[in-house]
Amino acid sequence: AHLDRITAVDDRVGAFLKVTGERALAQAAAIDKRRAAGESLGPLAGLPVAVKDVLCDEGEIVTCASRMLEHFRAPYDATVIAKLKAADAVLIGRTNMDEFAMGGSTENSAFQPTHNPWDLARSPGGSSGGSAAAVAACEAPLAIGTDTGGSIRQPAALCGVVGMKPTYGRVSRYGLVAFASSLDQVGPFARTVEDVALLYDAIAGHCDRDSTSANLEAKPTAPVVNEPLKGLRVGVVPEHYAEGLDPEVKAAIDAGVERYRDLGAEIVEVHLPHAAHGIATYYVIAPSEASSNLARYDGVHYGHRTDETAMHAELAAERKAAAETGDKAAIKKIDTALVRLYRKSRTEGFGPEVQRRIMLGVYALSEGYADAYYVKALQVRRLIRQDYDQAFEKVDVILGPTTPAPAFKLGELTDDPLSMYLLDLYTVSANLAGLPAISVPCGMSKSGLPIGLQLMAPPLEEERLLRAARMHE
Ligand code: GLN
Repeated sequence: AHLDRITAVDDRVGAFLKVTGERALAQAAAIDKRRAAGESLGPLAGLPVAVKDVLCDEGEIVTCASRMLEHFRAPYDATVIAKLKAADAVLIGRTNMDEFAMGGSTENSAFQPTHNPWDLARSPGGSSGGSAAAVAACEAPLAIGTDTGGSIRQPAALCGVVGMKPTYGRVSRYGLVAFASSLDQVGPFARTVEDVALLYDAIAGHCDRDSTSANLEAKPTAPVVNEPLKGLRVGVVPEHYAEGLDPEVKAAIDAGVERYRDLGAEIVEVHLPHAAHGIATYYVIAPSEASSNLARYDGVHYGHRTDETAMHAELAAERKAAAETGDKAAIKKIDTALVRLYRKSRTEGFGPEVQRRIMLGVYALSEGYADAYYVKALQVRRLIRQDYDQAFEKVDVILGPTTPAPAFKLGELTDDPLSMYLLDLYTVSANLAGLPAISVPCGMSKSGLPIGLQLMAPPLEEERLLRAARMHE
């Protein structure tokens, strides 16, 4: 049924980069056979799951929506993929994303845009826009995304679905193509909190192959997710009502607060004094780590390699021309074949936003600037975390908007990277502080666009977060 639905709508939505239909049917048939034989099956038996094209699935191409990895075949399974297979999920396809997860609109994909199913002229958000759109358009009941600065929660909010970023270290990053290693987390999308809990349970837990994995058992949340929390203290943050918050989003969030009050929760004001510095801090740290992580794509070890025959011809012609003029400086300026191979391969393989991030990161880390930018950002990151530690002494969860406004039009922000970055205002701090956070639908704008409400909890409190989110539904 889901494959039929994809056939019916995905030429308009564009959620998938690849539909692995044949494999999905084979997996489903094998599960049916085992069911008929009376074998016990995993918790996701037969459920289709769409996966962001950034996790290694052995034998499948993993593009990260980049020309750089257009032909890269994963040599092994990411832990998350192995766990999904072990849970008897059916892997239905690979979803579109911003290239290397850098962006908030899915327009940075080298291959195609994805359209918001609620209004095809609008963006689904990003970078996990394909996963969010697939779930919203009923092309898959469940999907996997990644969240470095909001890339699960923001598209979940803009597409009217539920998306959770677990605690940093809760879900293994082994086999996840790295963007910013101290911020990246894998997490679930679904149409209900209960389904998110089910998918989260299947992927969470310690992993020996990820040195930053939390060495703790992840207790299943699905069995308790429907139990409301008694005496819940919900934090509201005056700093969230910053300039630029859309009045309809504000009204929906205020209504969300009232809903918790009606459910018997205590509403407590808490302060996050460094919240305003989240964006600046994130956009130093994330590009810095990205510039380091993406150094591996040199056209030699991995990924796209420029046409060497053409390159050698170009090099020879330049050398010849320089030799004819006898200009020693010009001769010296011509780079060696290896340097040129790196440069051309990277120039051809990376799109403009990825190149911008690499340049920002290399600058922020360079000698003479690292103390002023990178080291300073790490200090502010610590202050942001301390704000949360203090707030969570008074409340169990913190509530606020996921995004400042509902979905924007495709193309509206593509020439304005700074405005695109500012949309991450409410999401980046959970990554900087390593906290779990979830976006749940909380109403619609007058023009019929979904609005998302974000809840955050202290590290490792996914159960609390999910139960609190479930109460709101
Ligand atoms: N929009 C943010 C960025 O562009 C977040 C991306 C993400 O979470 N992967 O970096």
